[in-house]
Amino acid sequence: LRWGYGARRTRRTFPRQGRFLEVHITIGELGEFGLIARISAGLPPGGHVILGIGDDAAVLRAPDRRVVATTDLLVEGKHFRRDWSGPRDVGHKAGARGLADVAAMGAVASGLLVAFAAPPELPVSWADEFTAGLAAECARGGAAIVGGDVAAADKIMIAVTALGDLQGRAPVRRSGAGQGDVVAVTGALGHSAAGLALLDHGLTGPAELLTAHRRPRPSYDAGPEAARCGATAMIDVSDGLLADLGHVAEASDVLIELTSALLPGSRPLSVAAELIITAAAGGPRPSEVARAARAVQAVAGTSAADWMLTGGEDHAFAAAFPPDVTLPARWSVIGHVRAPGTGTSAGVLVDGKRYKRRGGWEHFR
Ligand SMILES: [Mg+2]
Repeated sequence: LRWGYGARRTRRTFPRQGRFLEVHITIGELGEFGLIARISAGLPPGGHVILGIGDDAAVLRAPDRRVVATTDLLVEGKHFRRDWSGPRDVGHKAGARGLADVAAMGAVASGLLVAFAAPPELPVSWADEFTAGLAAECARGGAAIVGGDVAAADKIMIAVTALGDLQGRAPVRRSGAGQGDVVAVTGALGHSAAGLALLDHGLTGPAELLTAHRRPRPSYDAGPEAARCGATAMIDVSDGLLADLGHVAEASDVLIELTSALLPGSRPLSVAAELIITAAAGGPRPSEVARAARAVQAVAGTSAADWMLTGGEDHAFAAAFPPDVTLPARWSVIGHVRAPGTGTSAGVLVDGKRYKRRGGWEHFR
């Protein structure tokens, strides 16, 4: 129905004899320029913005005279499912991926650009909600949305480019961890992976884990904080703690030794593991063999420790610090750095051993 098309709303209700007629507008009906105008209307300005949306490109202040830049791609079905995550969740998640990478360099975010492709039949309300989520996450991170592009595609694809400012500090790289450093983390570990596992098994709680999966909440100020404390290396935990610390270990050519007893405890993770193992074992009249097989399979990938060590997308921060640094309370020391011995390659050990499970997410595998 095209009635009400000119209104700046996607869904209008028209009372008629006590009933309501709903009008849904798709992004195909709105068109490219209509969608861009709609997305850009009402976006808050930011402190770094000299020229925002409306010209061929934006102009941002770079007080440090260096610009931190990073880009991320989210593909429907790969990074999110529309039946598991709402548009506002996806907006938050898309923003968090870019903004956490900026923070992991020790920088503060300044601006964000977003490219959005979607099927023409997508309701405009989805794009509206997505934009609201993205803008809210940018506000959390201190960045402004300063530009973007839209296109038609078979499924939703979102590319987010985040820019940041180092405020006069050296960037905290992956390659700076040195022998004797302590390794510390801040932020929840494994909560997103546990939430995903719960959704996969059709479970609806613990709610905080589902929320953690749908809408990660990185503490962006922890990045610059770590840099001010003298962090020698840092990374945001996007692929899993072992995988990401593995990148640090390789770039720094060191051995990172983690102590599992030092991992921050999480009651919801233990609850989720119990629920999933029970659900996997108790399908509709499973044979004893099927029941046992499914239970074993679930147990193998379902424990609080597995999720904390290999679960991605929490966007916690992991960093190495010189041993004499007094860390703010939100940082938990979980291990230390030593030089690889002769015949040992760089990598991550948990309680002195290579961890038995595959370490984190890797595309194209
Ligand atoms: Mg990262």
